Amino acid sequence: MRHIDKKLHKRQGEQIVSEFLARFYQRYNCYPDDMYAAFSKEYDDSHNHAIFRKRLIDEVLIPEQDGLCCYCLRRLSGCIKPNVEHIMPNHAADKNELDLYRKRPTELNGLPHSDDFKSTASGFNPPHPHSIAYQNLVVSCDGLLFEESKKPVCCNLKRRHSFVPPFILYPDIQETFQYWPDGTAEWIQDPEPPESQTNAVRILKLNQFILKMVRRIWFFCTDNGLNPHGGNRDEIINTMFGFLDAGEANEANMLMNFKKDKYWNLLLQYDAFATIRHI
Ligand SMILES: [Zn+2]
Repeated sequence: MRHIDKKLHKRQGEQIVSEFLARFYQRYNCYPDDMYAAFSKEYDDSHNHAIFRKRLIDEVLIPEQDGLCCYCLRRLSGCIKPNVEHIMPNHAADKNELDLYRKRPTELNGLPHSDDFKSTASGFNPPHPHSIAYQNLVVSCDGLLFEESKKPVCCNLKRRHSFVPPFILYPDIQETFQYWPDGTAEWIQDPEPPESQTNAVRILKLNQFILKMVRRIWFFCTDNGLNPHGGNRDEIINTMFGFLDAGEANEANMLMNFKKDKYWNLLLQYDAFATIRHI
């Protein structure tokens, strides 16, 4: 897991949202009822008619995440349709629901609920309404691991509107989010145990069998000085196969899938794990 530092591009991110609010107000003499819907279709005349939402994604959000999914760390360039993820849900009922996400201080503190924005707003300036505030928006993969996939297996589209603590904004997340040599992911500060339905890793489905194997292969390669980008796919898989325990028949079957191009290409989209250490 990587910490997403919302202080680094604050000025640039907030500026796009301020420009959107000002532009909308200028055109319609009011604020939109559905902030995010308007942000997703309103054009910015002063920037090549780009949609404001797209400007924020392309110019700020994707670069600040180094092009990786905020949760599973897949390269977003490999996804058919990267998703904008609201850390605090877009359709949160009210301020009280937002407050569930503010138990620890993060950049989310101080953002007004979109319904309350009009009464608290100081012009178009920050703090911005939660549903379009730069601080509340990150980019997730679509969870569709292969071109023909119909159902997402992980991340934003599996979470939907469930409560997940905003751990990607916690500066210590890289130390408290751990990976085991077999690829298992665990956030050790989660108040909900791994077996709980409300455990964050479980909600996001980050321990799907295929994702665990992807990470396990990367960790095996790092531990043994192998480079998956080196055109030695069969050597890696055959070597790793020899290290599996006798009781790991399912793991052996999953590992063998990676001899196929589509699985191997997926593995390469997770090359962020080349520099992540297991415990
Ligand atoms: Zn993902």
